[in-house]
Amino acid sequence: MDLKEHIREIPDFPKPGILFYDISTLLAHADAWQVTMGRMAKAARQHQPDVIAGIESRGFLVAAPLALKLGCGFIMVRKKGKLPGTTIKHTYELEYGQDTVEIQEGAIEPGQRVMLVDDLLATGGTFAASVELLRKVGAEVAGAACIIELAFLKGRDKIDVPVHALVSYD
Ligand code: 5GP
Repeated sequence: MDLKEHIREIPDFPKPGILFYDISTLLAHADAWQVTMGRMAKAARQHQPDVIAGIESRGFLVAAPLALKLGCGFIMVRKKGKLPGTTIKHTYELEYGQDTVEIQEGAIEPGQRVMLVDDLLATGGTFAASVELLRKVGAEVAGAACIIELAFLKGRDKIDVPVHALVSYD
């Protein structure tokens, strides 16, 4: 099945000149979503993770069912200020300004193998920052996986773990 047929392309979102790849149509299609999750599971199993980490917010939609399929726990990497209790933070540079990702203290045991999951890889900044964050708490980042890669942005060059993408746009 060609998953691209189920990914809607929306021009000028969220800003003029940006072409947004919308996974809502993929999620809404029962067969396409089954195939997507089957392919994600196949990619992730190669790395024998203990834990699946989803990146806010569309990454959660992929990571939580993946964790169930693999019999792993699921943890959240969130933007600043969303998680209760003590958190560990990592701040990273954007084109204009900074952003911060967080996880809850104790979410991962040192040495656990973590598979990092998001919906889409663009510049790679979000994945790279999340890898750093997970390493701060002693995780072994076994790999990263996403549904869509915008290959022309060369984001995977910033990520020093194996990266899987189910579909790629040049
Ligand atoms: P990066 O940090 O790699 O530049 O951006 C990746 C992040 O931006 C991901 O968390 C992803 O959810 C979001 N993102 C950027 N562009 C798109 C897009 O066209 N479609 C979707 N679904 N997410 C996007």
